[in-house]
Amino acid sequence: MILSGWGRFPLADCQVRRPRDEAALRGEFAAAGGGLIARGNGRAYGDSALNPQATIDMRGFNRILGFDTASGQVIAEAGVLLADLIDVFLPRGWFPAVTPGTKFVSIGGAIAADVHGKNHHKHGSFGACVDWIDVLTVDGVVQRASRSDNADLFAWTVGGMGLTGVILRAAIRLAPVESGWISQTMLPAPNLDTAMTLFEQAQDATYSVGWIDCLATGRSTGRSLVMLGEHAELAELGPREREDRWLERRKRAKTIPIDFPSFVLNRFSVRSFNLLYYANGLRQLGNALIDFDSFFYPLDAISEWNRIYGKKGFAQFQCVLPLEESRAGLRALLAQIARAGEGSFLAVLKRMGHQESRFSFPMEGYTLALDFPLRRTTPALFGELERIAIDHGGRFYLAKDSQLTAERLRRADPRTEAFIQMRQVSRAAGRFHSLQSERLGL
Ligand SMILES: Cc1cc2nc3c(=O)[nH]c(=O)nc-3n(C[C@H](O)[C@H](O)[C@H](O)COP(=O)(O)OP(=O)(O)OC[C@H]3O[C@@H](n4cnc5c(N)ncnc54)[C@H](O)[C@@H]3O)c2cc1C
Repeated sequence: MILSGWGRFPLADCQVRRPRDEAALRGEFAAAGGGLIARGNGRAYGDSALNPQATIDMRGFNRILGFDTASGQVIAEAGVLLADLIDVFLPRGWFPAVTPGTKFVSIGGAIAADVHGKNHHKHGSFGACVDWIDVLTVDGVVQRASRSDNADLFAWTVGGMGLTGVILRAAIRLAPVESGWISQTMLPAPNLDTAMTLFEQAQDATYSVGWIDCLATGRSTGRSLVMLGEHAELAELGPREREDRWLERRKRAKTIPIDFPSFVLNRFSVRSFNLLYYANGLRQLGNALIDFDSFFYPLDAISEWNRIYGKKGFAQFQCVLPLEESRAGLRALLAQIARAGEGSFLAVLKRMGHQESRFSFPMEGYTLALDFPLRRTTPALFGELERIAIDHGGRFYLAKDSQLTAERLRRADPRTEAFIQMRQVSRAAGRFHSLQSERLGL
C-alpha cells in the first residue's frame, strides 16, 4: 500500500505486514530476508517508518498486560497508544510521565524516537520512564533489555528509530495525578529575549512551551506566548471541574474533510492566522484551569489536520541548539524564516534540559519546530536553516525529518559514526532499515 509519515511526504509503495503476536512477528522476520522496519501509528513526519520491502505495522500489538497500582508501572505491548493509556488510567489517577504534542503515538514509536514533552527540562525524555523493553533483535531472538540487563541494546534502542530491532512490549512508569485538569499560566513575550527570560525563570514549572510567531520581524522578532502548566490538584478545582474530574465527557475530534488546495496557505493567510492566534492568546493571559487535551494536544482536536497542507504534503524543521548558542542561533533562524515568509502557524519553542543518551535528539538548550508546506523551494530553505543550526552547534530531530542529508547529519551529530558502527558490528544494518536510514546512510 502507499504509505507516508504524518507530513505525507515522501509517499512509498510498501509491503505492509500486520502481525498480532510474537509468533507471527517471528514469521515475518524470517520471511523478510531483505530487511524490515517497524511502524507504530505513523506520526513521525518523514520516512522513518517506511520500508518498501517490509513495513511491520505494530498496531496489532495492542494489549495492556499489567499494572502496578503502587508504582504506576504499566506493562503494555508496543502498539498501545498513549491515548489508550490515558483512557484507561487517567480515571484511576495516572497520566503519561512524558508525552509529545499528540497522544496518538504508540509506545513503540515513543521509545524508538525517545520523544520529549513540555516537561523535558524537568523529567527528561520518554526513555526516562521506561523500565524495560522486549526487542526482537537481528538474530530473531526476543531479548529483554533494561538499564541493568542488555544495557547496550536498551541504550541504543531508546532513540534508535527502529534500527536496532522491533520493540514488542515495554514496562513504563506513569505519573500520579489528582485530576485531568491543568493549571495553566499564559504569559506574553513581545520578543525572543523576553521569551527566553520567561523560560529560564520557569525552570521549576513542570510544563513549559512557547508558541512563537515566526513571521514577526524587527523588534518583535521572536514574539511568543509562553505557557506554563501543572497538573491541578483536587483542592484547586471549582465545582464545575470537580464534577468532571477525569474529563470523561470529552468531545470527539473534528476531521478536515478534504485536502486543501495549496494556494490556501500562503504568506498572508499564515501571517493572519499568527496575528489572530497571538491576539486570542493575549485575551487568555494569566491563570486558568484547562482540560489536559487542550493543554497537551491542541492539534489532536482536528483529526487529519495534516491535510490542510494539500496533496504535496509538508515538512517539519526541528532542531535543538545548545544553551550558550541558543539566542544567536534562534535569532539567525527566525530571520531566515521571516525572509522566506513560508513559515507555518505551528512554531513551537521549548527549553530542553540536560540529557545523556546514545542517539536521542534532546540536549540542554532550546528547540524550535515549525512546519513548511512542500514547495520547489523547500529543500534550499531547509539547507539554509540546517546550515545555521549546524553553525550554532545544533542537531536535528529524526522523528520530524524528511529533508536532511547524510553529510549534514554527520556534521550536526558526531554520535552518528558510533551509531553506524553499532549497526555494522551487530549486523542490525542488514536487517532493520527504513527509507530514512538509507537516505541518511545509517
Ligand atoms: C501533531 C504532532 C505533534 C508531535 N509532537 C511531538 C513532540 O512534542 N515531541 C516529540 O518528541 N515528538 C512529537 N511528535 C513526533 C512523534 O511523537 C514521534 O514521531 C513518534 O515516534 C510517533 O510515534 P508512532 O507510534 O506514530 O511511530 P511511527 O511514526 O510509526 O514510527 C516512528 C519511528 O519509531 C519506530 N518504531 C515504531 N514502532 C516501533 C516498534 N514497535 N519497535 C521499534 N521501532 C518502532 C519506527 O521504525 C520509526 O523509526 C509529534 C508528531 C505529531 C504528528
